[in-house]
Amino acid sequence: MRVHTGGRYTGRFAPSPTGPLHAGSLAAALASWLDARAHGGTWLVRIEDVDTPRCIAGMDHYILGQMARCGLIPDATPLFQSLRLAAYATALQQLIVTKQAYACACTRKDIEIALTWLGHARTRHAELLYPGTCRQGLNGRGARSWRFLTRDIPVFWKDRRLGEQQQNVALEVGDFVIKRADGLFAYQLSVVVDDAMQGISHIVRGEDLTDNTARQIALQQALGLPTPRYLHTPLVLAADGQKLSKQNGAAEVDTGTEAAALGSLFKAAAALGLDAPVSGDNTGLALARWTHQWRSLYTTP
Ligand code: GLU
Repeated sequence: MRVHTGGRYTGRFAPSPTGPLHAGSLAAALASWLDARAHGGTWLVRIEDVDTPRCIAGMDHYILGQMARCGLIPDATPLFQSLRLAAYATALQQLIVTKQAYACACTRKDIEIALTWLGHARTRHAELLYPGTCRQGLNGRGARSWRFLTRDIPVFWKDRRLGEQQQNVALEVGDFVIKRADGLFAYQLSVVVDDAMQGISHIVRGEDLTDNTARQIALQQALGLPTPRYLHTPLVLAADGQKLSKQNGAAEVDTGTEAAALGSLFKAAAALGLDAPVSGDNTGLALARWTHQWRSLYTTP
């Protein structure tokens, strides 16, 4: 693995504009901001608007406004993934030329049938594990999507909070889609291309994304890109213990007034194990105090 050695710390928060920030995404934004500040680094925001059917018009600026009212202001103009399609196409081409990606003609039905024949329908998060039908070619069928050719070896990495991790992507995930049948580039490819282009040295994001990391490292290695350091933060859970997400209707964080924004920040900070408010607090003071606390929690070399 080629570890990121650029020297300078560059971090990022990468929201998808599919809904307003909720307590969980605000915690991820706060954690990545704090980590960048604690390292004296640069903090970038990337709007991940490639999955266009799920994006909501105007939500990008809405999210940026919510963040600004919480004092989380990026150090450069945000990057929009919708403007980066040429770079994703180049990366896909590179993978095709180096025989690390292949065209796939299978529909979901085809995959189900193939798995029945094989007698082991393996699933992962309700997704069928691709049995590799098109690895040897399309047999005259039309290409629908593009898949990454995974290698049957474990990917090892060390999370700054969760410790040593490993995953054999070929066995546990299978050859995953990098360009979808609807023509859109998949998150795994766009995230890897942009993290490298933006010189991201440290990725700090919610623990729900931990499971994507091995796939992203495999893609970085296939494309000859450096691997950033990773820190996955604790999730903010709903009252019923379920993960908060836009899909299950998690409430938008209230940033309508300064007091409301501060209250939302405190909830996010509590989820990250940071100190409670003190009297006379404001956003700037609280962020400065947490940066100090974060440094002692997470910046050991
Ligand atoms: N855009 C992704 C999301 O909203 C986050 C991607 C990442 O941090 O790697 O969940």
